Amino acid sequence: MDVIKFWNTKTRGYEKFVPIKEGRVSMYSCGPTVYDFTHIGHMRRYIGDDVLKRTLGYFGYEVNHVMNITDVGHLSDDGDEGEDKMEKGALKYGKTVWEVAEFYTEYFEKTMKALDVLTPTHFIKATDHIDGMIAFVKHLEEKGFTYETPQAIYFDTTKFKEYGALSGQKIEDKKQAVREDVVVDKNKKHPADFVLWFKRVGRFAHHTMRWESKWGDGFPGWHIECSAMSMEYLGETIDIHTGGVDHIPVHHENEIAQSECATGHEFVHFWIHHNFLQVEGEKMSKSKGNYYTIDDIVEKGINPLALRFLFLQAHYRKAMNFTFESLKGAENAYDRLIDIFSNLKESEAKADFDYIGRFKRALGDDLDTPGVIALMWELLHDMRLDSEIKRATVLEFDKVLGLGLDKIEKDIAPKEVLDLLEKRQIARNSKNWQESDEIRHQIALLGWEVLDSKDDQKISRFRP
Ligand code: AMP
Ligand code: ZN
Repeated sequence: MDVIKFWNTKTRGYEKFVPIKEGRVSMYSCGPTVYDFTHIGHMRRYIGDDVLKRTLGYFGYEVNHVMNITDVGHLSDDGDEGEDKMEKGALKYGKTVWEVAEFYTEYFEKTMKALDVLTPTHFIKATDHIDGMIAFVKHLEEKGFTYETPQAIYFDTTKFKEYGALSGQKIEDKKQAVREDVVVDKNKKHPADFVLWFKRVGRFAHHTMRWESKWGDGFPGWHIECSAMSMEYLGETIDIHTGGVDHIPVHHENEIAQSECATGHEFVHFWIHHNFLQVEGEKMSKSKGNYYTIDDIVEKGINPLALRFLFLQAHYRKAMNFTFESLKGAENAYDRLIDIFSNLKESEAKADFDYIGRFKRALGDDLDTPGVIALMWELLHDMRLDSEIKRATVLEFDKVLGLGLDKIEKDIAPKEVLDLLEKRQIARNSKNWQESDEIRHQIALLGWEVLDSKDDQKISRFRP
């Protein structure tokens, strides 16, 4: 099999990827916290995971990919002292926490689909796995890694010698949060210790989400969910675990600590972390309000796949600054790509061996997508190659890039689009312009554009 090297956060170096089981990969991605809109910053990260997964598939591995949906226990500071994000979302939108979770999970899925991100093998809710988390905490308790306070069950980080190894921080340097809006448990023994189980007392006395446990009514902390769900679906040690760089110092340190104390062996071989999408030098985030959603992109008449193309132009471990000018630039380039591709001749020709070799080497070099895109332009402008071979080769590239070239190939709208079109015609007949506009937007999210004449609608592939 061809060689793939990844940068492993854990060893701070490039390492050749060798899976635990030959030909198979177990991969876990920390999923979204579904309390508010998915924004394009999140999507930079999930497109990065998608490229990773497609690359492994392209290299012949069967990937078992698990992603959790965090619908409980994630506090606004990523630790134990902030506000509960789900309760905050419920308050903001005047809905129940359950309604909020359902609505924003659907929004996340819709965004993933618009950007051609493949669905994980298991896309699972934390709230469906509470029993497993309780059992996990009990196990840690039996092994002596926890302590109880009137407010919570904590993991005792001083009992795990390697605590801090992933991020290279010393446990002594961990400080208690000092912000005024946080509530500190005076019985917490060490600032690095973290909650495994919150009791429904004190500031959480009225918490809506609650489950019975041997420690009383309560809810799990955020970190335990990923360890419990990863182990339930993928086993005690897995090949790859991914997340944003913000997860390194707290969330992933905590996952490692509790997992390795529970099993006595290594939790993850490869830790892969994606860098941020920024706006004017700051992380794009819900809390800063400096974010755009996929709907904002489509409302500006931009094909979601032009955004995917933009993201692929930067390496996943480098921060990327988002501007609409750069998105426009990517849109123009994407348009050029579609034009050139559409004019290539179709045939049974095979992909070019040399270019495929270089393509694989770029991917195997820690997922060098900017390198692959440069290679793609080189290929398309290569005078020595036949049009048919170019077409076959670029379609191979697109199995990993996911720029929708295979769909341009078959220029027939899927049933989902045709159904929406029919629904829109009914809305138009009854002069319901608002609904008709909404449906146009939904069709755009699926990559198609509606052109209206007086009493007819035509569709074509969404061209930038
Ligand atoms: P959250 O829903 O806040 O837990 O975020 C879901 C994922 O998106 C996490 O892995 C974050 O690291 C990642 N993420 C959040 N904001 C950004 C951003 N601006 N750029 C890249 N990744 C992000
Ligand atoms: Zn996680």
